[in-house]
Amino acid sequence: MKNAVMELRWDPVLGEWIMVSSVRHVRPWLPESFCPFCPGAPETGYGWQVLVLENKYPMLTPEPPQPSSHHFYVKSKSSGGNLIIVETPQHDLDDISDLDVNSIKLVLEALKNLVEEERGKDYAKYLLWFRNKGVEIGVSLTHPHSQVYVTPFTPVKVERELTNSKRYTIESGGKCLFCNIINVEESEKKRILYSNKSWVAFMPFYAHWPFEAHIYPRRHLQLLSDLEEEELSLLALTLKVVLCGFKKLFRKPSPYIMVMHQAPLKGDYSFYHMHFEIYGVMRGENVLKYAAGMEMGGGNFTFDSVPEDNASRLRDSISTCLRS
Ligand code: ZN
Ligand code: ZN
Ligand code: FE
Repeated sequence: MKNAVMELRWDPVLGEWIMVSSVRHVRPWLPESFCPFCPGAPETGYGWQVLVLENKYPMLTPEPPQPSSHHFYVKSKSSGGNLIIVETPQHDLDDISDLDVNSIKLVLEALKNLVEEERGKDYAKYLLWFRNKGVEIGVSLTHPHSQVYVTPFTPVKVERELTNSKRYTIESGGKCLFCNIINVEESEKKRILYSNKSWVAFMPFYAHWPFEAHIYPRRHLQLLSDLEEEELSLLALTLKVVLCGFKKLFRKPSPYIMVMHQAPLKGDYSFYHMHFEIYGVMRGENVLKYAAGMEMGGGNFTFDSVPEDNASRLRDSISTCLRS
């Protein structure tokens, strides 16, 4: 790690942090037949169902180097953590929707423990959990896993959600934006994908990606660690069913990105409502939707169909999963 550059750089034009790490660059070459996440690999051992590993080539670390100073630009220390959750010992499993509900719950419990643990660390401002699925979007290690970034800042997208939902709460005299979205979606029904006692899954009115699912807890809560036992079990079921829907949408399993949006780890964000978002990036059989000119260059998404129609297709796909 000598001479490695590991720092946060502030973009003064857009007002956001970039994580810079030259450590990522020196990842060793791995033989194709070797999986670092399989039982018996140097860092995994045996006898586990779910395993939390430190990323050996992180963007963020508990004890980062002090960045050199700059006369104009702002830098900051890369304090934080990069963790990997190996979700099952089974290597040849396509997706977590192929696991049984109890095994998915074990993954969520591991994540819940991480939220509780990381909250206590002074550099930990935010914990972002995400799951990238599919070689189409650049996933190189196919052994089922997800990732955790513990960051010393709140990610931009969450920051925007906090700003807008706080404004809504103030302007509406104390209501929750997200609770209201649940009410509207449940009364309009046409974008609802699946729901149960504790969770509601829907394709948002304002979907960005061709097939997008947002999963909200019915109870107004801010952090994953606020979930009770039964809510966690029903979340495992909801993820299984909804992700199975994505898998069965086209002939080939759809690549997707799943992320958990929760409140920052410290402070009062009682106006916020945690949730999950899944972005399905296929817009048709073998057609990938790229975030290109308008999306990357302008920041606004274009939607090539109507969310209500795509919601109905995804809902049908989910119902085939419920029948089987
Ligand atoms: Zn493996
Ligand atoms: Zn709410
Ligand atoms: Fe969100």
